[in-house]
Formats: sequence, structure tokens, C-alpha cells
Amino acid sequence: LFNKDLGQHILKNPLVAQGIVDKANLNSSDVCLEVGPGTGNLTVKILAQAKKVVAVEMDPRLAAELQKRVNGTPEQRKLHIMLGDFMKTELPYFDVCISNTPYQISSPLVFKLLEHRPLFRCAILMFQREFALRLVAKPGDELYCRLSVNVQLYAKVDHVMKVGKNNFRPPPQVESSVVRLEPKNPPPPVDPKEFDGLLRILFVRKHKTLAANFKQTTVLNMLEQNYKTYCSAHDMMVEADFDIKTMVLGILDSIDMSLVRAAKLDLDDFLKILLTFNRANIHFT
Ligand code: SAM
Repeated sequence: LFNKDLGQHILKNPLVAQGIVDKANLNSSDVCLEVGPGTGNLTVKILAQAKKVVAVEMDPRLAAELQKRVNGTPEQRKLHIMLGDFMKTELPYFDVCISNTPYQISSPLVFKLLEHRPLFRCAILMFQREFALRLVAKPGDELYCRLSVNVQLYAKVDHVMKVGKNNFRPPPQVESSVVRLEPKNPPPPVDPKEFDGLLRILFVRKHKTLAANFKQTTVLNMLEQNYKTYCSAHDMMVEADFDIKTMVLGILDSIDMSLVRAAKLDLDDFLKILLTFNRANIHFT
């Protein structure tokens, strides 16, 4: 009946569905984006509280079923279904996003939402439990990772509820959690590619010291290449005694970051490291 490839697990518990919608604090002027409405168990509850729902659904059969469900009700004119792949859809304006989507697109979905402009007010999103815990993980937590830091750079993230697998039909193999995302507005003025480039180096082995991670030959070669590219693009001479390793380790020492470990660093630490390297014309993309 349901398409496993599209991650179709219908939320069958109406109390959980209502709980999710309530977390969005919708008001009657809100436009709500829903990703993967399925048969519409969340959609009808959102329609009761919002001005308009734009629902992006990839499966034409389910889209038709949802359309039928609202046809002839007062809510019909408030629902706009967009048929297609969310990842390839140009998003309309929305105030709030609510979604119980297939877990395969969790990560690209989060970043697509955070890149959208103008920024939305908040997003209430259902994810596989471990993914949700990664999103909210803090320095020192076991699941603290690149994803945690990249997302927390742009949003405040909170875990709002656990949802057991038996609330779905058919039940998925993993437990789920609902997360609330509130974009920082204005967003921090940081190049996301540069920031992620730095994190890629530091989280390869997050329990090793920063100096140890930076000393890897592949890392030093890449940074040297980037430095030389930067210098030639800005008509700067590379110093005769230039040595990338000396420079990198010197920069880490100058901010007392040689012997610390990514697993314990917070957002401000990473921003400080990035800024210090960039001031020395070392870039991570
Ligand atoms: N939201 C419904 C609910 O809570 O009962 C259905 C949830 S089901 C886990 C995921 C839904 O997303 C399915 O309806 C599926 O067809 C749809 N879907 C899967 N991949 C999608 C994509 N890339 N873009 C849009 N919808 C997608």
C-alpha cells in the first residue's frame, strides 16, 4: 500500500499529530509549508489554525488523496498542493514549516530551509531519533558533530518530543523525535562553505587535538594550495621562507587552541578559529 522508497510512514496517532502542530504556535495569518503531507493527518490540523498551507508532495496518488480529503470543506481554499520533489521545488514564502518527511532527505531538507529567504519564524520537524540528537548536541555530547555545529551556526535547535515507532503505519525501524528550529535573524555573517571546510578538518577525529588534525599532510597541502591561490588572486607575494606548517601551528598557538579538541569546542570557538585563519589569509575552500 505505501511506498517504502519514499519513506511513507503515516502518522496515525492524532494526539501526536496535534502535539506537533501545537509546537508551531501558529496564528491565523500564518502561511505554513508542509513537506510530504502524505494522506494529510498533519495537514488537516494545520489548516484548522493557519491562513494557508503549501504542501509539497512527491507521490501523485497521495496528493490526490489529500486533495479529496479537503474538497468540499471550508479548508479547501486554504490548501495549495505542489506536486514534486521537495529538494527540486522552488519554495514559496512561508512563516512556519511543519514536516514529517522521509528520513533519507533529513540533512538536505534542513539546509534548504535555512538557506531560504526571507527567513521563516520556526520549523517543527520529525526526524529519526539519532539525527535529531545530532542536531541538538552540545560540546561534550557523544553525538556532537559537524552537523550539530553547522546547523547551530544558523539556528537555535531544541528537542521537543520523542515519538515511538508504533505511532506510525507501517512502523519504521527506528525511533523518532521532533525538533524545533528557529533561524537566527539576522544570520551570522559567515561563509557556510568556509565554516564547513574548517569543521571537516577538525571533526575527522574530534577527540584529537586541533594541532594533530591540522598536521595531517593532506590538510597542510590543501591549506598551502588555498593560501597560494589567495595570494596570487590578491597580487601578494608568497614569503620566501613561507612554511605552511609553521604558519598554521603558529596561528593555533596564538589563540591557545593547539591542544584543545573539537569535541569540546563551542560555536564561538570555531568562529574565532575561522576568523584568525582568514585574517592570516588562510582559507578553507
Ligand atoms: N506527513 C505525513 C504523515 O505524517 O502522516 C506522511 C509522512 S511520510 C513519513 C513522508 C511523506 O513524504 C510521504 O507522503 C512521501 O510520499 C513524501 N515524500 C517522500 N519524499 C519526498 C520528497 N523528496 N519531496 C516531497 N515529498 C516526499
